[in-house]
Amino acid sequence: MIVSLTVVHACVFAALALLVGAIRIGLRGESALSWIAASLLCGTLEMLVFSLLKGGPVEHVAVIVLVPVAFLCFSQAVRIATGGGAQDWRVIGACAGLAAFSMLLLAAGAPFVVMVTPFQFACALGLWDGMARLLRTHPRGTIDNALIAGLAVVALTFLARVPLYPAAFGLWVPYAVVKVSAIERAMLLTSALMTPPCVFLLLARIIGGVIARYRLRAERDHLTGVLNRQAFEQVVRAEPLRGGAVIYSDIDHFKRVNDRYGHHVGDEVIRLFADVLAGTGFKVGRLGGEEFAVFLPGNSAGDAVGLAEVLRMHFHAIRHDALAEDHLLSASFGVADYAPGEPPAEALIRADVALYRAKGEGRNRVAVFHAWGMMPIVQAPPRAAAAA
Ligand code: GH3
Ligand code: MG
Ligand code: MG
Repeated sequence: MIVSLTVVHACVFAALALLVGAIRIGLRGESALSWIAASLLCGTLEMLVFSLLKGGPVEHVAVIVLVPVAFLCFSQAVRIATGGGAQDWRVIGACAGLAAFSMLLLAAGAPFVVMVTPFQFACALGLWDGMARLLRTHPRGTIDNALIAGLAVVALTFLARVPLYPAAFGLWVPYAVVKVSAIERAMLLTSALMTPPCVFLLLARIIGGVIARYRLRAERDHLTGVLNRQAFEQVVRAEPLRGGAVIYSDIDHFKRVNDRYGHHVGDEVIRLFADVLAGTGFKVGRLGGEEFAVFLPGNSAGDAVGLAEVLRMHFHAIRHDALAEDHLLSASFGVADYAPGEPPAEALIRADVALYRAKGEGRNRVAVFHAWGMMPIVQAPPRAAAAA
């Protein structure tokens, strides 16, 4: 038994739609997957119509509607996957207008090659929507570029038909002749063969995005957005042993903030402190309740002390509506450096010792512990320790 190629394509599209639907259920979300499945179902229907109906207006109307809708659905999936949000109604309107124009020409009995021309532009425009979205993506990865290329090939099969049909068959060729021609088969085969790679590329992008999102959540502290302890320690461990410095810091008398104003204000103060540290542009980790570390690979202890002093003054100058006017926030800082060839994690332990010393010396100050084992040197702050 010989099975028509279009029926095979219909089966492939339906299988892909099922696969995408199953992945959507498995991921419990990702609306982009629903749009891909909708696009594939339109493609399946179109292939069945194309294979089962033997010409006539019903086939024309079904194809004129289904193909642009399939491409618009795919472009919408691209839009969501790239963070582009809602549909572009101008593109949808233009596609609908072009498809409607083809239907008018069909009703008016225009020659097939004339009638079908607005439809070809509608298909190319539906695909262009997704391509344009991908072209605007920054940074654009290999998957994006491959997807743009795949969609461009499909769009070209529609645009190429506009000059090819009249050139190859003349203006008055009946649809039945075009349908079985080598040109039409080649165009149909090309766009059908490009569909699975495009679907897989978009699937890879969507699933990659989900994994990246969960990885980000796993690495970030949910209250402050800086690295959590585990991720920070990983960053420190992964750093080449080229020497550098670390700053260990802890908000002074923080329990009083919680006790006096409540935990929600305490949380806000922790966030403020994290923002001050994150503003340095260095890797920052929340190591405990209100304890943070800043990692400065390639910097000297002197650089780190200078930065810690700036951070100390910055935080001490912050006023917050939720705190009493006379409540001055402050934090203590311990700095340590590590020599080339030495693991930075060792410096974290020494910075903690220096921080302990800064607390013992009266808080709201920076203490430093050098790698060669000198006793911690405490820098006296210009102003007195925190009030509260
Ligand atoms: P010191 O100057 O010696 O550091 O005194 P301190 O009061 O700040 O003491 P410590 O650093 O031990 O206080 C930590 C407090 O932080 C204890 C805990 O209740 C509170 N804490 C820990 N995590 C959170 C959090 O996520 N939110 C809030 N609001 N409080 C937290
Ligand atoms: Mg504290
Ligand atoms: Mg603490």
